[in-house]
Amino acid sequence: MSPISLDSTQPTAVAPSKGTANTTEEDHSNVKELANTSNDFATMLHRVPWTPPIAVSAQGVYISLENGETLIDGVGGAAVTCIGMGNQKVTDAIQQQLQKLSYVYNVQLLNEPSLRLADRLIASSGGAFAQCFFVSGGSEAMEAVIKLARQYYVDQSPPQPQRKFFISRRQSYHGNTLGALQLSYHPARRAPYEVLLNHDAFHHVSPAYYKRYASEGESEEEYAARLVKEVEDKMEELGPQNVIAFVAEPVVGATQGVTYAPKGYFHGISQLCKKHGILLIYDEVMCGMGRMGSTYHAWQSPNSYTDGIPPDIQAVAKGLGGGYGSIGAVFLNHRVAEGLRSGSNYLQHGHTYQAHPLAVAASLAVQDVIEEQNLLERAHQVGIYLERRLRDRLVLSPNAICKDYVFDIRGGGCFWAIELQVPDQSVYDKWFIGRGKERLGGRVQAQAMKNGLVIIGMSGGIDGAKGDHLILAPAYNMTDAEIDEVVDKLVSSIEQVLNETV
Ligand code: PLP
Repeated sequence: MSPISLDSTQPTAVAPSKGTANTTEEDHSNVKELANTSNDFATMLHRVPWTPPIAVSAQGVYISLENGETLIDGVGGAAVTCIGMGNQKVTDAIQQQLQKLSYVYNVQLLNEPSLRLADRLIASSGGAFAQCFFVSGGSEAMEAVIKLARQYYVDQSPPQPQRKFFISRRQSYHGNTLGALQLSYHPARRAPYEVLLNHDAFHHVSPAYYKRYASEGESEEEYAARLVKEVEDKMEELGPQNVIAFVAEPVVGATQGVTYAPKGYFHGISQLCKKHGILLIYDEVMCGMGRMGSTYHAWQSPNSYTDGIPPDIQAVAKGLGGGYGSIGAVFLNHRVAEGLRSGSNYLQHGHTYQAHPLAVAASLAVQDVIEEQNLLERAHQVGIYLERRLRDRLVLSPNAICKDYVFDIRGGGCFWAIELQVPDQSVYDKWFIGRGKERLGGRVQAQAMKNGLVIIGMSGGIDGAKGDHLILAPAYNMTDAEIDEVVDKLVSSIEQVLNETV
């Protein structure tokens, strides 16, 4: 396979970081060449127009590259590595499990760490959930959720087979598999496959993001009421007796950078769902498992403004395995669990690697570390410190050159976004409209990588929104000194890009 073309913006010299990953004496001299010639199709899956740097080891929040340089991870991969990398306790647990029982097919045989993990997670849900099961990641979890929700109505007594509609938002990413993509409204990820998607069963309503989409003079309460009314109208249009579920990320990640619904939104929607017997489903793949700080589930956390409303079904992944195991989970509340049990007591679903013993053992050990080190609370504190540092450096400092370009700094716990914009419309049009990865979000992400910092930068929003978002999702145990390093590198990356472009 021919190599991806390299361009002049390829990240090269990375400034040495204050911390170090566990660099080994191994020889990685031919790894770069390997990446350029390898038949591994993964080299085609990156959205940057150069071959990305090659990681060889990691410790805590530091990643060592094949050329000896070091990156600090400000976004936990993609909001995944919640306790940092190379944790000894988790490594030991995986190794012990590997020696004891490396695999059983979960459809034939149960395994002990899976049973223990399920009990542990259900116990920590404060009574909201009755049961859960494990799959290999976020998309798989959302696929299972779609089938489970439909199954619930087929199993009702009397059955409700006419229920076939899902309502989700034009501000959502629920996964890259075809089922999950139908729920999602990520135009770029949907575009090539649009003809394969079912437009009859999957319907989308407006995004919820007060600061961008509220009408002039509209209060937050009025905005929430308008959005809830739109959902009600959509239910009426489809016939509420035909709707399976309303599906949303409590805090939106991949499509619009850590956006919250206005206060009262989830309360209003849950009332509608209750009235019509429609299921409320949360996708907490990105924002769940402690990411918002203080609590395991985003909907429990005051940082996520979900009015504390629990769902009927919920998917999680990413932080559940913390990067140590490929794992996702689906939670069922009592209503759904009992509905299925007293119906067919069977979900026509299963994957070869579901509840893989190594993945569940890894996740169990990650939960131990979170509990022993009180990391849900630490995640909340990380958010408080990170926000203060970001506001100081980007907006409040007398030398902040970025001030006019920062539209919003928002988040909670270990999930934050800085939304940039270019105030001058003509400059914006010249530089950013239709320029894809050349836009501000992509440029800052690339510059940060050159400066030794990993972040995610996204350009634009849904429905033509202008903002470019930079996402930070630090590990829950990031130290204040490491946060300072992330903020320093981020601010200089933004300043460098602004100096070059506007
Ligand atoms: N749901 C949400 C909210 C996500 O953010 C993602 C991934 O970013 C997914 C689902 C898909 O998860 P995965 O990439 O593990 O398949």
